[in-house]
Amino acid sequence: MNNNNLIKVGTAAAKPGEIGEGAIEITKLAGGNVLSIPLTIINGKNPGPCFWINGGIHGDEPEGAITCALLRKLINPEKLSGSLILLPVMNIPAMEAGQRGNPLDTFSHDMNRIYPGKKDGYLSERIAHEHKNWLIETADIEISIHSGGSHSYLAETIFSTKDEKAQELSRAMGEPWYLSLYSNRPSGSPMSVMSEIGKPAITVELGGRSSTAPGSFLKVGEILKEASLNIMKHYKMIEGEAKYPAKRYKGYQKALLAPNSGIFLPEPSIKFRKMMNKGDLIAKITDYKGKELCNLNAPEDGMIFGLRAMPNVTTGDWCCFYAIIEGTWEK
Ligand SMILES: [Zn+2]
Repeated sequence: MNNNNLIKVGTAAAKPGEIGEGAIEITKLAGGNVLSIPLTIINGKNPGPCFWINGGIHGDEPEGAITCALLRKLINPEKLSGSLILLPVMNIPAMEAGQRGNPLDTFSHDMNRIYPGKKDGYLSERIAHEHKNWLIETADIEISIHSGGSHSYLAETIFSTKDEKAQELSRAMGEPWYLSLYSNRPSGSPMSVMSEIGKPAITVELGGRSSTAPGSFLKVGEILKEASLNIMKHYKMIEGEAKYPAKRYKGYQKALLAPNSGIFLPEPSIKFRKMMNKGDLIAKITDYKGKELCNLNAPEDGMIFGLRAMPNVTTGDWCCFYAIIEGTWEK
């Protein structure tokens, strides 16, 4: 809980009832531009928790940016209890280049693997370090928005730790978010630095390159906006009744990799996040002339929650995000 005083993050500041704009400044680049993380503080008139929404830690995943933009227009600090901190893009050089990692950094390319970062480390480690300092100082709750990026499309899926506070936050994402998997990255991410100090934080996945029909990107943003509003209702930051999934599935991710090179053809009848039985057909891989080379089958009972964006595939490529389902969460 903040004491409803001035909130400061980087160069941004906002008193209760105000919106503040600014950035976390990292360093000056050779051309004279300052490398910084832009952010907005919406500081509610009334006391309550400080909720951080982080987007774009991977530069090919702009879904966090659209979500923050939609929330920025909607949330009125006069009617907010607590505060909302919006960071549409954390990894600016990566987003500008449209790449997963920071092209200015050869040695710590994936920013979601290097937390808590390092004050005097590689460039991305310095970005992570500065971001982490402000995050753990001010945030009570955090979500990191991800997607399938340039390689895949992912349906609504949460990764989080198993503890009660993180599962409360997962459940608060609302009705469409009924798949909540154990994090396979217990360290290295914003979620991990929050969880180390006992604060709830989750990684959420939705969207990606194969969702590019007109309106699709906006729809992804709208779904993530609704989830963020549901969280704010759950923690009594805004008016309204939060809704929850009737049942939430738990389990862990298994990456299904291509056994052959060729063309990846998913079985048209399969659906995202619907239970499948071990052995069910997920896809076929054919050669360029259409000769069937192999089948990809469900490795255990579970669900598909993402598929590769490009049908052309090389041996060892990531084909399918599969969730091995172990049961349902108690709540
Ligand atoms: Zn990502």
